[in-house]
Parts: sequence; structure tokens; C-alpha cells
Amino acid sequence: MLRFDSLKAQTVKELKTGIKETLSTKYAEIFPNDKRAPILIKPNLNSNMNALTGNTTDLRVIASVIEFLKDNGFLDITIGEGTNSGFYRSNISVIERLYYDKLAAFYGVRIKDFNYSETVNIEFSKGIKAGVARECQEAALFINMPKLKTHFEAGMSVCLKNLMGCLVGQPNKKKTHASLSENIVNLNLALKPHLHIVDAVIAMEGLGPTRGTPIKTGNVFFGTDPFLIDILMAKFASFNIKKIGPIQNAIKRNIITQEHFDFVNNYKFADTYSLKPPEAGPIATFIHHPKRQKYFLAIRNTAFFNYLCQTEFFGKILFATGLRQDVFIKDEMHWDGLSLNESACTKCGKCNDYCPLDIKLPESLSKAGASSPPGCIQCLYCYSTCPERAIDFHGKLGFMSEQIRQYDNIIRKL
Ligand code: SF4
Ligand code: SF4
Repeated sequence: MLRFDSLKAQTVKELKTGIKETLSTKYAEIFPNDKRAPILIKPNLNSNMNALTGNTTDLRVIASVIEFLKDNGFLDITIGEGTNSGFYRSNISVIERLYYDKLAAFYGVRIKDFNYSETVNIEFSKGIKAGVARECQEAALFINMPKLKTHFEAGMSVCLKNLMGCLVGQPNKKKTHASLSENIVNLNLALKPHLHIVDAVIAMEGLGPTRGTPIKTGNVFFGTDPFLIDILMAKFASFNIKKIGPIQNAIKRNIITQEHFDFVNNYKFADTYSLKPPEAGPIATFIHHPKRQKYFLAIRNTAFFNYLCQTEFFGKILFATGLRQDVFIKDEMHWDGLSLNESACTKCGKCNDYCPLDIKLPESLSKAGASSPPGCIQCLYCYSTCPERAIDFHGKLGFMSEQIRQYDNIIRKL
């Protein structure tokens, strides 16, 4: 049975209430009877740019799902993701930089970097075998929680593409790159997550997956068929499905059928968007042409290229040409705390709306000197979104300075 649900929610309170209600009223039968059964939550954490940039799954959406699971007595919950670029190019823990480890600790759930997982081999095209994280195979309930965003190589990244993070480490990911669209479909057929929850609260348009522009749509979507959801997301965002490789592959293989298209044609969204497609500059477009891309991929996957990417000079050249979308600052953030500039604060409440833990803000912020509000996981969602710049950060921003350089003005207007 094809099914799909949407939730309009923008604030942390709306997200927590709406997600819990949708899961309990519409998806209750999906959850295991055994409260000790292993449950896996798989977000999209492809870079160290947080959810406000449109890059990664929103901590507020993850927190809402974890609270639902804990409220219902589930005991074995893991957040798992095989982060890619930051890990390989600079040995950076994207999971830590996005404060997912602190969120997991707050709720007492496990966090797993699939780059260090035991592997289970599955078959891809042309007889290739590549390893996925054992946790993905063994979960009694596998919840896929992608971000809705553009993707320069795959056209769009939602449910189907998000499973690439289940492959263990770069060597396994590389094996699948030669026939990427076909292998994304193969991965979905092999892993079959039970539930998909799409974070489109702040989606991404333009040069995704890492350098696009955040667009607030205030939507979360739910369903059980990733092929259906991805075509619906293309309709929601006005993406041309002819340019989305995995969807085209699934149509060719009759995995996406007329029944899917009938459902999509009949489905009416409350609102739709025309997200700008992922068009890169002339150099990146020339190199990524289907006839030439395989040569670039062969070079990109060498140790020497990875080494060059870590040098500031070469990294800046690649970023300027669009051949690389991410800039990884090596310095970590040093946190001394936050404080409130009372004279600038208008008490609009936006900082609370964005706090994943719904901490009472701005009241819990110190009026004099740095301090951490009780329960704070240091995600800086409140600091980054305050339209009046009334929250002061104390310490060193480190890697966060790159996000602020690229996105500060956009995020404060979200
Ligand atoms: S977002 Fe800024 S201005 Fe609004 S209540 Fe919070 S601190 Fe004050
Ligand atoms: S108080 Fe601010 S930094 Fe702390 S968890 Fe809430 S939003 Fe994040």
C-alpha cells in the first residue's frame, strides 16, 4: 500500500508535537512490539554545516523522533551515519561538529560512525560487492531521516541517496561510484528501511549537496516507500525527474510503476516550491559531463588528491571552481558559553523556536558573562538565528567561522 503524510511545522514545539502525533496515529503498526528491539535512526550528515544551512538533518527533527521512541519505552536506539568528506579529507568528526554526539548523550541513546562499523557485503551492479554497516542490516526498525536538498551529481538527495551513508568507509563507497544511480537503487532494495522521515523544514536549493542555499519550507514528510517519496519530493520542489539519476534507473527497472505516478499525480501538497537546480560553474560542469566524469572520479579518489585537498591553497582553488563544495577548517570550536545582550533582545522567541532541546530561551541565557543554559548541547542554533544578534558567543568559533562566513546573513533571516 502506498502511503505518504506531511506535517507543517517550523518551531521546536510544533515539530515535537506534530511528529509524535503523526507517528502515533499513522505509523503505530511499524514499531516493534519488543521494546528491546534495535532501532536505527539514519540522518544525513554529509558535512560540518549544520541544518540551518540546508545541509544536514535538523537536530530538532531527530530529537522529536527520539522523544517519541523513549516515550513509548524503546530501549535500544542508535543514531548511525557514515559521514564522508570531512572524515576522509581531514579526519574530522562531522558527527561531533554537528553536536549529534551531545544530543545522543542527552537522551541516553547510542551514536555510531559507520566508518568504523563491521561490514556485511551486498551485491551491486556488475558483480561488485561492497560492505554496508551491520547495524543497517540488523535493525528491527530502520528509520531513514534524510534532508531534502539538491545534489550536483545525483540531481536531488532525499530518501534514496541518503542510504549511501550506510556504506562503510570510502573504499566501499568508491566501489559503487562507477554506476552511482543504479547502485543507489540497489542499496535501497537491499536495505529496505521501514520508515522514511524527510526533513524539509529548511531545505536546500542551488549548488547542493554542500554549497547550496537554505530555503525554509517548514515541512516534514513521512512514508514507507522511498521511490514514491522521492518522486513526490521532486514534485514538491519542482525538480525535473528526468535529471534525477536514481529515479530514472528505478523507472527503467519497473521499480517505479504507474501506480506510483498515479499517486503522485493525485497528491495535492498544501504548498510547493521551485527550488533552483544544482548548476555549477563552467569548469565543474565541463569536468562533470557524463563523458568526462569517470576520469575526474578516478583522480578524485586517489590518496594524492585527498592530500592536495587538505592543503589550504589547493582546497581554495577547488572551492572557487566548484569542483569541491566544502571547506573544512581544522580548528575545533572552543566553547566558553553564551550570554544575552538584554538591550538588543526584542523577546521575539525565535531562539527558543530553534533550540532542539526546547530550553527556555532567552530567559536561561546569562545576562552577565558566559554560561551554558542547563541541558545545552552547544549547537549554536539559537545564536545563529537571532535576528537582532542579541546572543553573544564566548570562546573561539573555529570551524563554525566558515558556516558563518557563507551563511550568517541568510540564516538570521530564516
Ligand atoms: S532570538 Fe534574539 S531577539 Fe529574539 S528572543 Fe532570542 S535573543 Fe531575543
Ligand atoms: S541553548 Fe542554544 S546552543 Fe544550547 S542547545 Fe539550545 S539552541 Fe543549542
